[in-house]
Amino acid sequence: MSIDYDDQNIFAKILRGEAPAHKVYEDDDTLAFLDIMPRAPGHTLVVPKTPARNILDATPDQLLAVMKTVQKVARAVMKAFGAEGVLIQQFNEEAAGQVVFHLHFHVLPRKAGEPLAPPRSDIEDDAVLAENAAKIAAAIER
Ligand code: AMP
Repeated sequence: MSIDYDDQNIFAKILRGEAPAHKVYEDDDTLAFLDIMPRAPGHTLVVPKTPARNILDATPDQLLAVMKTVQKVARAVMKAFGAEGVLIQQFNEEAAGQVVFHLHFHVLPRKAGEPLAPPRSDIEDDAVLAENAAKIAAAIER
């Protein structure tokens, strides 16, 4: 298993401002932005601002900062989407389904009886993402 960090991954580019993102929250240590291929409206990703490939090489401080933001975003998506629950997902290494090799947690608002959309390969409409990002940002408790 490799634990090398490749700083050309797309989330590193977002963090450096070299790629766009619909940001919903940011602090000194973490960034939260919308997944461009959402499996539910409001599907958000939370990343540390410093390099970590996944949970296997992350430091306790990185995990602490990220989980604090995951909770903040989880509460916000519950409110913003009138959700009844929230699913947190996180994948480590290719064998476990990791595709982007910068540590990230998925935050997915859920409603009873509404099945999770299957993984998709089409990018959500930019206007929809912008609207959903604004809703979540407005619901974040500061
Ligand atoms: P995984 O590594 O399996 O957790 O999957 C990576 C996730 O990142 C997928 O849900 C993708 O839809 C998402 N993704 C890939 N590129 C971007 C991007 N440029 N902005 C936001 N989300 C992305």
